Amino acid sequence: MRIKRLKLSGFKSFVEPAELRIEPGLTGVVGPNGCGKSNLLEAIRWVMGESSPKSMRGGGMEDVIFAGTESRPPRAFAEVVLSAETDARDDLEVVRRIERGAGSAYRVNGRDVRAKDVSLIFADAATGAHSPALVSQGRIAAVIAAKPAERRQMLEEAAGIAGLHARRKDAEQKLRATEANLSRLEDMMNALD
Ligand code: ATP
Repeated sequence: MRIKRLKLSGFKSFVEPAELRIEPGLTGVVGPNGCGKSNLLEAIRWVMGESSPKSMRGGGMEDVIFAGTESRPPRAFAEVVLSAETDARDDLEVVRRIERGAGSAYRVNGRDVRAKDVSLIFADAATGAHSPALVSQGRIAAVIAAKPAERRQMLEEAAGIAGLHARRKDAEQKLRATEANLSRLEDMMNALD
């Protein structure tokens, strides 16, 4: 998967709609301290389904919405659109939007989806909100200090098999429900004998 474009509106310091084209090759983001470089990386992680406000440097998820300044009122929502090209050469457009008091909503190629669906799309493409490819400040030190279980998680993400864990959990739940149904059926059949 190759990220081609990022559109931000009302996200953190990006109060005005901003569009960033990401061309093939290496992309560098430069600018003075506090201009929003880290916010850009966070926007990528956020649209990929990041669920921890802490890792977005906030107390609650609504903290990603432009909070206002002395001269500008706060915004009611934040939206990030990520456009990517997948291995199948299909274009993928993922939108995440958060409104004050209403939480997050996701759309993939124009269809409403769940957060889980978005995470699975990126996990299957060996990327995602926790991908080691998104190197934020302090990340290198965190990788060096990581415990073996955390390193295993990174390797699984890189190998594109991280999505299998969520699917296994779903399958196990379905299996347990089916087992409960079967045992109920057995009880009923015994009662009929
Ligand atoms: P540095 O080089 O110092 O790491 P940076 O370019 O990475 O800085 P960021 O950390 O991305 O900058 O941006 C910080 C700026 O974003 C701060 O000015 C902060 O006030 C602003 N900011 C963060 N969240 C919001 C928000 N919800 N509303 C408005 N501004 C915000």
